Amino acid sequence: MLFSELVEFYEKIEAISGRIEMTNLLVQLLRKTPPEIIDKVVYLTLGEVYPPFVGIELGVADRLALRAVKLASGASEREVEKAYKELGDVGLVGERMLAKRSQVTLFMQQLTVQDVYSALERIARETGEGAMEAKVQILSGLLASAQPKEAKYILRIVTGKMRLGIADMTILDALAILYGGGKEWRELFERAYNLTSDIGYVAKVAATSGIEGLKQIKIAIGRPIRPMLAERLASAEEILQKLGGKCMAEYKYDGERMQIHKKGDEVIIFSRRLENITSQYPDVVELVRDHVRANEAILECECVAIDPDTGDMLPFQELMHRKRKHDIHRAIEQYPVRIHFFDALYVDGRDLTLQPLEERRRILEQIIMEGEKVKLSKAIITSDPRELERFFHEAIENGCEGLVVKALGKEAIYRAGARGWLWIKLKRSYKSEMMDTVDLVVVGAFHGRGKRSGTYGALLMAAYNKDRDVFQSVCKVGSGFTDEDLRKLPEMLKPYEIPRKHPRVETGMEADVWFEPKLVLEIIGDEITISPIHSAAWGVVKEGFGLAIRFPRFTGKYRFDKAPEDATTVDELLEMYRRQLKKVAEAADGGVPSA
Ligand code: ATP
Repeated sequence: MLFSELVEFYEKIEAISGRIEMTNLLVQLLRKTPPEIIDKVVYLTLGEVYPPFVGIELGVADRLALRAVKLASGASEREVEKAYKELGDVGLVGERMLAKRSQVTLFMQQLTVQDVYSALERIARETGEGAMEAKVQILSGLLASAQPKEAKYILRIVTGKMRLGIADMTILDALAILYGGGKEWRELFERAYNLTSDIGYVAKVAATSGIEGLKQIKIAIGRPIRPMLAERLASAEEILQKLGGKCMAEYKYDGERMQIHKKGDEVIIFSRRLENITSQYPDVVELVRDHVRANEAILECECVAIDPDTGDMLPFQELMHRKRKHDIHRAIEQYPVRIHFFDALYVDGRDLTLQPLEERRRILEQIIMEGEKVKLSKAIITSDPRELERFFHEAIENGCEGLVVKALGKEAIYRAGARGWLWIKLKRSYKSEMMDTVDLVVVGAFHGRGKRSGTYGALLMAAYNKDRDVFQSVCKVGSGFTDEDLRKLPEMLKPYEIPRKHPRVETGMEADVWFEPKLVLEIIGDEITISPIHSAAWGVVKEGFGLAIRFPRFTGKYRFDKAPEDATTVDELLEMYRRQLKKVAEAADGGVPSA
């Protein structure tokens, strides 16, 4: 197939904008395309050489492409520069410069699709030292054999600016029309695409083996499955109702979604957008090797940044440190992560995507060996809206975004590539900031592990309830302590140690060590939330809930100047909580957020 035939279609497609017209043109194009190269035609039309998950990019910047134009056309640097300023599109610059070129082009061999594709492939595969120069050479060679209009599209493809307005879905439509011969087959095409994430491959199978071939498409390790997504509702009751009265609710971890492919010792990690992010997470690769008891598996997990000292979850932004390319090994130490598995899509030859959630979870439980850094997602099965709500607030307090509530029963399959009502997320309708520090009393402690063994891992902190003259817990704080603090704390607290909870202390937590309420520390957190565990202001904002501080940290200030009764009071906390809400309500244009 000649590349000029493809270009003719691109020109037509550029001139229209309606999706239906576009699809019809695509159908014509694909009908003309020989089946052996249909995948290549599809990739080129999308402005790519491979499906995105392969992670090989052309990597040609405008500047580099302009140099190739100059070489191929014989134009001067000034001319090229001037045209670029005027047109702002490398493709158009190439078209104009090549139209002006002096050499005779009459007897030039016409470019085939295959010629263009292999040259682009060579460009994509040039990496490392001297790669840029090599890319320019290959590109200018290709342009030298191209007609001006061909050059326009070649240049747009290499610089990542094809932008015909065609997406995977439009191609899927065209394929279904061409090879499906009816709406009823559309689902089959979609499933093939959702299981492979490779529209070029689906086109090739459809063109060479038809419907029967598509039916045979199987999940393969190394080819990502398009992720299942969740709908959203605002309350526990609504969700339970929608899910038929019973559900599996899981913590919605605030991290990065990972689809993990394992074959023996080989591990690939795909992001939510199905990009290969394996190189950012060598530690996760190791964890998968050590903790997944299956030879072959495709599993989904959420990867969360954790505080290296306490194991507490940190907000999503902390993962950004993993995006830097160099010195990943230092980043691993400074910003450790934990993975929480929530689904199994394929295990040892068995496609699980059409199995109900409970079965997938059962298999997940069988093959995951939990450890400090590898867990299953925390989950409950419930039909009680109050229990669901309690679980939701517990999740928030523990650093999660809320819950993903999932349908149970035979229908509850893994719907690859779809946002649907089998998964419903429950997030907060408000989010706010804690502006001020508070002074809280140490009432208990938890033993440290790892680097902190021998000292405390976290302290249980309480506010003062003036009316009842008791201390009510608000948070467990493990962050913000220096090594020096950690060394001093056991000594400092020793005199107050008591064998059981102090009678003036109220909390839903079981500490390892209890103290007489004496020592006051200054604490800051991200916000005040309602909590099913902590007892400050119990039942005041909501029945069955108290107040807690989310993501608490020690500021470094020991308030030796304060008696425990001088600590921040529960009333003050309540006031702060309400002010927070008011502020957000105002920001949200008067809407009153639900607690
Ligand atoms: P959001 O911005 O709310 O994360 P999203 O569009 O990225 O939305 P959704 O489908 O709305 O994705 O929500 C599901 C996301 O929640 C998943 O992509 C996954 O990253 C994350 N997640 C965290 N914990 C779980 C869990 N236990 N089960 C499923 N998904 C989870």
